[in-house]
Amino acid sequence: MRFFKKGDILIYGIIIFIFCVIGNMIIKTPTVKGKNVEIFENSKMKYRYKLTKERQEIILKSILGDEKIIIENYTVKKVDASCPKKICIKHSEIDTVGESIICVPNKQIIKISGESQELDGFIQ
Ligand SMILES: [Zn+2]
Repeated sequence: MRFFKKGDILIYGIIIFIFCVIGNMIIKTPTVKGKNVEIFENSKMKYRYKLTKERQEIILKSILGDEKIIIENYTVKKVDASCPKKICIKHSEIDTVGESIICVPNKQIIKISGESQELDGFIQ
């Protein structure tokens, strides 16, 4: 005697899938979409930009040289890096408060923050 028919397995599969999705949603909440991107160097904030829908290409002056980030659709992505291995540009775009792109050689952290501030651009 078999306990599971093909159709049953499919139904169980769907149920498990739904539980996984719900579980994932519970674990991930609260996800807060970021308002700003902050760029830290040596744990000091160096730049802050607003996340905008419009595309912005920004050049960062980092320890090892110039780097480029692109802000678009309220996300930010690093597209050009001055570090030797360029691991940081392989990171996918970030848009949620608390997410970050870390570049170890440049002692740099690109971080999404939530609070809305009027400050833009160069801070130091
Ligand atoms: Zn890097």
